[in-house]
Amino acid sequence: MKHRDISLSSEDRGGCSISGCNNSTKRSIPRKRVEKIGELTLQDSNRKVNLCSDCYRIFKKATKKDRTMESLGR
Ligand SMILES: [Zn+2]
Repeated sequence: MKHRDISLSSEDRGGCSISGCNNSTKRSIPRKRVEKIGELTLQDSNRKVNLCSDCYRIFKKATKKDRTMESLGR
């Protein structure tokens, strides 16, 4: 019998990558960008992060705040 690799990545499951959230995903975002804001806790280590609409809203809000801080620094 051949050994079969079972993928546990959420990319294949199609669920949200945020810890404690299991909604279906709407957007795929590079992991770095999500880690940078620090508002969302990732439950896997994929390079791409899948976000549901709720988590994407949090992400968007956080990046907006980041951008505001950037413009204030100028
Ligand atoms: Zn989510």
